[in-house]
Amino acid sequence: MKTRLDSSKTPAHRSWNMSRIRSRNTMPELLVRSLLHRMGYRFSLRQTGLPGKPDIVLPRYRTVVFVHGCFWHRHRGCRDATMPKSRQPFWLKKFEQNTARDSRSQRALRRLGWRTVTVWECQVLRDPRGVAGRLNRVLRPHTAASFQLILPERSVLVRNAGKRARGSAMGR
Ligand SMILES: [Zn+2]
Repeated sequence: MKTRLDSSKTPAHRSWNMSRIRSRNTMPELLVRSLLHRMGYRFSLRQTGLPGKPDIVLPRYRTVVFVHGCFWHRHRGCRDATMPKSRQPFWLKKFEQNTARDSRSQRALRRLGWRTVTVWECQVLRDPRGVAGRLNRVLRPHTAASFQLILPERSVLVRNAGKRARGSAMGR
């Protein structure tokens, strides 16, 4: 896909457009998928028909995982949830729409009997093993066996997911 950079747009607005285009297969998302895979959980992607189009769907566990970017989805208290200096009314409206949509989707999913887990980008990049433990605690009670968590070091996990993210971006 070719993306024309429109010089009349502000950098912030341009990066908003770019993020809309690149909202799938982000590095944090690939990292979460890799953690689930290593723990033996099977999942599907882009399952249509579910509210909010969750990033990762685990049908057997009736659980969906959202991997949220801290800036776009406004991770509360997170230093990555910055406020741009210019065009603040635009951003405020945009952020409010995003967070309202997120809570609507999660409510709708819960009404349909799905459990929802939100993983924030900063959490999985900083502490992938901690996130793996959390996912395992949510999912494990619903499996017969319990899994021994043997995961590589954070640096290895992050590096591998980064390679795959770049690979999939180039493949478009
Ligand atoms: Zn965050």
